[in-house]
Amino acid sequence: MHRRAFLSLAAAGGAALALPPVALARSGPPQLERLNTDPTRIIRTVAGLRPFRAAGYVVRAERFSRRQTLVHHYGHGGAGVTMSWGTAAEAVQALETATSERSCAVIGCGVIGLTTGLELVRRGHEVTIYAEALPPYTTSNIAGAYWGIAGLYRRTDVDEPFMARMGVAALRSHRAFQHLANDPRYGVYWVQAFDLFTRPPADPMGAPDMPWLYPGFRRRTGPDAWWGYEGVDQFHQLMIDPDIYLRALMAEFEGAGGRIRMARFETARDLSRLRERVIVNCTGLGARALFGDEALEPVRGQLTILLPQPGIDYAYTTSFEGGSLYMFPRRGAIVLGGSHGRGNWSTDIDLADQDRMLRGHSELAMRIAQGV
Ligand SMILES: Cc1cc2nc3c(=O)[nH]c(=O)nc-3n(C[C@H](O)[C@H](O)[C@H](O)COP(=O)(O)OP(=O)(O)OC[C@H]3O[C@@H](n4cnc5c(N)ncnc54)[C@H](O)[C@@H]3O)c2cc1C
Repeated sequence: MHRRAFLSLAAAGGAALALPPVALARSGPPQLERLNTDPTRIIRTVAGLRPFRAAGYVVRAERFSRRQTLVHHYGHGGAGVTMSWGTAAEAVQALETATSERSCAVIGCGVIGLTTGLELVRRGHEVTIYAEALPPYTTSNIAGAYWGIAGLYRRTDVDEPFMARMGVAALRSHRAFQHLANDPRYGVYWVQAFDLFTRPPADPMGAPDMPWLYPGFRRRTGPDAWWGYEGVDQFHQLMIDPDIYLRALMAEFEGAGGRIRMARFETARDLSRLRERVIVNCTGLGARALFGDEALEPVRGQLTILLPQPGIDYAYTTSFEGGSLYMFPRRGAIVLGGSHGRGNWSTDIDLADQDRMLRGHSELAMRIAQGV
């Protein structure tokens, strides 16, 4: 994130301005419960396709037919849950700027369709969600889902206006999740998080530039770092359990008068037969076939889910064997992830990748247990 963009955001939002990193006295690592990576603890391994656009997510309104307005809202890559409230607000604003019609068809019932639908019903629109797949069978259910702006765009493909817009959406979304963390129905909670690195991250997503997104942020490098890494970023972050969360969103949407219908649309033309005057395209990766957006591509990710383990209440991300590794704790499971297959459409399970993850997490668990 560009420092200037974030400083102006901070000023606009009344958030505390970034402070220079504080020099810390050397302190030993926290005593953390050792993760048990024994293969007998595996519940399942799943693969999903992140809807990635190097040039960033799309929010745009256009005339669709003489009768209908179309609002696009898709392409959130590896950060759809993270960004959902912020970009839904952008989509609602684009819609209300383009038309005063109140009857809306939202296409898609992943986190983007549900959040957009909910924002619309809250503002008095009459909304029906149409989707081929409903939770728990969407990509959104596969998500980690850790609050973090990773895999949302490629830095060389986006401009400063996009970064500024994205920054506003990120802040707005983080704020929305903070409120949800106070209500146990949503499956949103704070965890202690660690980014472990051998080289400081090039794109300082966890940098002190934006402390309000990473409360308690501390960077330790060189001799001050722990567990054999060159650097450790420590902070608190929000975790979202997608199964609980999406079910809660559906209940809230229907409770507020929204309707959900199962339907598959083969072509964009099929949408013109809907009676609604506004169509909101929240089809994720489906937008590629439906609207011919070839800039949208899959980034395959595989997760291995372990039985829950008492005491595992921290998350980490790191690199391993040329790829990455992450571990996220849930109330009912432990999520092991870290694969990114750009352009890979397969959702078959890759057992070699599962082995790589178990090996990497087990090595890291040993380092953490040694406590140096
Ligand atoms: C392994 C993995 C880990 C991830 N981890 C994280 C994370 O830690 N944090 C984070 O924020 N994000 C994470 N993500 C990314 C996140 O899952 C996505 O960005 C998000 O789910 C996109 O949501 P969506 O609603 O756009 O798409 P989807 O959840 O795919 O929903 C699309 C909806 O559109 C419907 N649809 C599509 N085409 C049609 C059609 N032609 N007709 C009718 N309906 C249609 C589908 O049936 C579905 O209901 C991860 C993703 C993966 C795969």
